[in-house]
Amino acid sequence: METKPLILIVEDDPPIKNFLRTSLKNHGYRLLLVEKGGEAISMTASHMPDLILLDLGLPDIDGIEVIRQLRSWSRIPVVVVSAREQERSKIEALDSGADDYLTKPFSIGELLARIRVALRHSQIGASENPLQNTEFRVGDLVVDMEHRRVKTNGKAVHLTPTEYKIVALLAKHAGKVLTHRFILKEIWGPSSVGESQYLRVFMANLRRKIEPDPTQPRYLITEIGVGYRLLDE
Ligand code: CA
Repeated sequence: METKPLILIVEDDPPIKNFLRTSLKNHGYRLLLVEKGGEAISMTASHMPDLILLDLGLPDIDGIEVIRQLRSWSRIPVVVVSAREQERSKIEALDSGADDYLTKPFSIGELLARIRVALRHSQIGASENPLQNTEFRVGDLVVDMEHRRVKTNGKAVHLTPTEYKIVALLAKHAGKVLTHRFILKEIWGPSSVGESQYLRVFMANLRRKIEPDPTQPRYLITEIGVGYRLLDE
């Protein structure tokens, strides 16, 4: 029988902790639970979980600091579970190396979907098989990374080289939210990380080309104030 993924829950708030424990246990995940950031780091080192669900407001060290410390030696997926509504801490968590975030309150369905995406990405990364990533499909959208072509509804879409680079970057990380800073740095280089306005113009053009209705984006989802996510089925 296949071994279920082991998830480390880092949460000090009893109702949220119980909710996470019950929901994940019911879906067969194996669990470890800790309440402090320091314990999260030592538990990760000793038990090597497959994924970490991390609260940002912890009694000892800040969740952001936990991510920074983990990222100095581990690529383990981290999904932030936070009560903080502020965009700033979400962006900081993602830029520090978190894979995704959920803002409380959230549904079990949402939680499970984010966990599946994060686990899948870490497995694709681990298998190092470039062929798995040559074509991305969602709905009517096809991003063919081998031939650098994009199609919607079976028809080729004419993209500028920069537009193509943005779509390919989002497709490579499909299902994950990418911050403005990350996209700007990957496409235009480190000196461009403040130019969110620039990115917005490119996204509007891209939507006109790939979305059936650009005013109601289906594929290119805006995470308000944080970044963009390409839909993943
Ligand atoms: Ca907390």
